[in-house]
Amino acid sequence: MQYVPIQAKTLLSKRTSEVGWFWNERSCNPYRGCFHGCTYCDGRNTYYHSPQPFDRKIEIKMNSPELFEKELLKDGIERVHQGGDGTLLDFYEIDVPKRTPRFIVGIGGGVTDVYQPAERKYRITRKLLQKCWEFEMPTTLLTKSHLVLEDLELLSKINKADWMNVTFSVTVWDKTIQRRLEPQASSTKRRFDALQELRANGIHGGVCLMPIIPKIADDMTNLNRILDEAVKADAEFVMWGYLTLKPDNKKYFLDKTVRPFYPEHVSYYLDAFEKKWYTWDVEVVKKLRKEIKDRGLSEITPLPVPFGRNKTNLPLTKKIYHKSYELSFTKARESMERKALIDLAKKLITFPHSVTSSSNEVSSFLANLSEFQQEQLSEAIAQTNVL
Ligand code: SF4
Repeated sequence: MQYVPIQAKTLLSKRTSEVGWFWNERSCNPYRGCFHGCTYCDGRNTYYHSPQPFDRKIEIKMNSPELFEKELLKDGIERVHQGGDGTLLDFYEIDVPKRTPRFIVGIGGGVTDVYQPAERKYRITRKLLQKCWEFEMPTTLLTKSHLVLEDLELLSKINKADWMNVTFSVTVWDKTIQRRLEPQASSTKRRFDALQELRANGIHGGVCLMPIIPKIADDMTNLNRILDEAVKADAEFVMWGYLTLKPDNKKYFLDKTVRPFYPEHVSYYLDAFEKKWYTWDVEVVKKLRKEIKDRGLSEITPLPVPFGRNKTNLPLTKKIYHKSYELSFTKARESMERKALIDLAKKLITFPHSVTSSSNEVSSFLANLSEFQQEQLSEAIAQTNVL
């Protein structure tokens, strides 16, 4: 294993409003590369410029906490709590009321795990979480590691001060299959144990059942077991997603998993991913969605309202997003309607005034929507009863 400390130039991604999924508006990756070595990992694709070999050479952005703080301050965001660097100052709470609207910060994502073993050595994720608490930022985090529990206290502090959501990425319950797919990640059971512990401490959390791996881990025995474990762990949601295989991870996945362990499925994968880079089985998805619903779970993560945002627009944003989500099962994912709905949800989530009030700002917001978006918004307002 080679650890390469580096100095990053910037950290937080540009401001975007990600609707659905984690609702992140800006995100950051303190590491590059991932020791967990999942054979399907999208991060293996060269256009992410991850160090190579992907799971043996990990770059550590050593200055992540400093950059994070600098970028928040540049946005005018006030520090609310004193830093915990072990000085006498830690005993004093500084009383700075929040004035600047917050945004939802995502730590980590699909191309590196923020609780891979490097974290034990460098603790960059912990330092970033410390900053999230100091600045009272609503935060989300995605991991496949039980090591997240080592930061339980800090995660609770963020959750109490604002909002903390920890999502565990899970694909398969069976240990043998899991090792073939995710050789160095925590076992699925340990991930569920960690989720249960976090939920018992009031931290928001759930499962990202992704990717659903055709022929290898898409049987209902596996999927139902994951859903049952999610219920047992008190998950708030089970979101799910399909397998994406782009040129580099497709080759890796075929060579490391399909050919050696599932030679009978090689031709399926070659055909299914010949012209496109994702696929799903419509019947599996139908059954899975029904099972999720039957267990009273949500397919979508809860949406926090960051400080400074308008609460009235929240149920409308959710409604619009739900509609776009449902549309993806009946129309092409790229349909114009779906794009227009997502665009509307993105606009709504950051609009600081209630769209049901009357003001010049609201009039100009509405005037900038397409006719279709205006209709959809009126419908959502009528159905959501927010007037
Ligand atoms: S844990 Fe996530 S980032 Fe790491 S290899 Fe697996 S899929 Fe990729």
